[in-house]
Amino acid sequence: MNAAMARIDCVLVRPQHPGNIGAAARALRTMGLSRLLLVAPRRFPDAEASALAAGADALLDAAPVHATLDAALAGCTLALGLSARRRGVSLDELDPRAGATRAFAHAAAGGRVALLFGNERTGLENDELARCHAMVRIPSVDDFSSLNLAQAVQLMAYELRLCALAAAPDAVATDAAPEPPAGLHEVETFFAHLWRTLDAIDFHKGRAPHTVERRLRRLFLRAQPSLRELRILHGVLADAERMAQLAQPRSAQGE
Ligand code: SAH
Repeated sequence: MNAAMARIDCVLVRPQHPGNIGAAARALRTMGLSRLLLVAPRRFPDAEASALAAGADALLDAAPVHATLDAALAGCTLALGLSARRRGVSLDELDPRAGATRAFAHAAAGGRVALLFGNERTGLENDELARCHAMVRIPSVDDFSSLNLAQAVQLMAYELRLCALAAAPDAVATDAAPEPPAGLHEVETFFAHLWRTLDAIDFHKGRAPHTVERRLRRLFLRAQPSLRELRILHGVLADAERMAQLAQPRSAQGE
């Protein structure tokens, strides 16, 4: 578990539907977040919450239930409120990417972050948003701006996941790490082989090879092939040369 991600709380304020609590737990779990906090949920624990958590039960079981928002925010040093509308509170407004970047950087520096999500029907109240350092608005369309609660959680969790991956790319999959590009000398040897082969298969048909060679050079330099990839390409060229040789009239084959 990424240390910064472990310092980010997802706080659901007065959630109405237990299904949304479960779906939010699942959303967090898939993105490497582990802390779900509940403020005055209408029904919890609940079978529907467990069903929608789809195995992310540990987050539900560990979720503290607080009577007030202030109790949930104790110890938090940065609070971001998710809201579809501004509600007349003068707060900095961030998009999800900027909000996640700020939250992740704050947590990585040792702070404790709370992301506040409001009630399904009424959203976050003004006095709840007033406790926040900034609000995050998902840029939905004006005439239908409100996402499902758990889907809003998923979207923020995804943006945080991107921050975590960018901070520690090695954690993704070391076996997928790209091979280093081959050295310039090996690439030049490949070009020499390629030019020879193009001649052998009469690719240029009397035209000057210069333009094509320049373009192919640009293509392969852009691709930055590895040694292993160059070996495959040499193999392809060697076969093409062999075929060109076979296709020659017997007299030209030196017999
Ligand atoms: N009718 C409520 C919407 C509640 S949706 C309202 O108008 O505020 C439940 C919660 O999901 C919201 O309180 C908010 O935390 C989050 N949410 C939904 N849509 C969002 C959006 N476009 N931007 C940011 N948060 C959103």
